[in-house]
Amino acid sequence: MSQPISPMTSRQRVLAALRREPVDRTPVCNPTSVATVELMDLADAFFPEANRIPEKMANLAETSYTELGFDTIMPVFSIIQESSALGCKIQWEQKDNWPTVKMREPIWRDVEDIRIPPDLLTHPDTACVTEAIRILRRRHGDEVAIIGKTMGPWSLAYHGFGVEPFLLMALDDPGKTMQVLERLKEVTIAYGLAQIEAGADALTLPDHATGDLVSADYYRRFLKELHAEFAARLPVPIILHICGRTVDRMPYIAETGMAAFHFDSKNRPDESMAAVCGHCALVGNINNPETLFARDPEQVEAEVLANLEAGIHLVGPECAIPLQTSIENLRAIPRAVRAWHSAGGGARCHHHDHSHNNG
Ligand SMILES: [Zn+2]
Repeated sequence: MSQPISPMTSRQRVLAALRREPVDRTPVCNPTSVATVELMDLADAFFPEANRIPEKMANLAETSYTELGFDTIMPVFSIIQESSALGCKIQWEQKDNWPTVKMREPIWRDVEDIRIPPDLLTHPDTACVTEAIRILRRRHGDEVAIIGKTMGPWSLAYHGFGVEPFLLMALDDPGKTMQVLERLKEVTIAYGLAQIEAGADALTLPDHATGDLVSADYYRRFLKELHAEFAARLPVPIILHICGRTVDRMPYIAETGMAAFHFDSKNRPDESMAAVCGHCALVGNINNPETLFARDPEQVEAEVLANLEAGIHLVGPECAIPLQTSIENLRAIPRAVRAWHSAGGGARCHHHDHSHNNG
């Protein structure tokens, strides 16, 4: 029998789960955005300002903790902050839409075109994030886990070259592709270190080697070693994020030393647990477009239960949620986690974690 674990703060709970250590209950985690238009109204912080003004970014981000009851605050709603600093043209959009890179105007054609600007970390769109993290750390102390985000080189290459030209390069010229990734990895490291210095407890590292576009073999050839290097050089737990069907590359991901993998609902919780074989934590995987966006709280709760029963270490949405998602559906996630643990699910969960630590 495992001893009951004394109550933890949200921050302790998240960090313990990322180390696959026992927790008082499963943490509710958003490694990507849970910003919604409803939360923007509550916080009086709207896109695009909430992506560009540190105070607004912090005000919107902290609603995941103060309004939804999650154990994490994640201020980097978009995937384009550092791409803006690299010189990509950005469509900043309005309250009801995500900012995007204007992919029709690529800024690079060849490896030599990639230059890392001296103001990478002081550019307003990167400094906004580090300043927001400092504000959040001051406001919330050690109560809650603050998660930053630094984009991986594969995603940065999509932004700089365009998705199709970069995928063609990967097909035609693997050597050149590796040179591109080697140059861009320094952006990932530098921006990650800046956020850690500002107070981030963990970092999400999205690198969109997505199931539909990139094979497991590509992952092994181009990204596995780079991802291991990120896990080694960034001194906080790293949560790798890749959308889509990824169960075929999870065994490789589990060997990189990444603390956790944030996985999509296209992968079942039980098969994903089997694929990582206890070598990294899993975060996920409530479906966004159907369940969180279009269904009701009962269906959200059913998906939370499927994750808890499978032993998933941190529960949350599979990816950045649609901006029109209801607060009611989001609040159903922590409610279902608490209900499951008070009904006795927690005891089994601890036991499960111990057996993984020993095995
Ligand atoms: Zn995603």
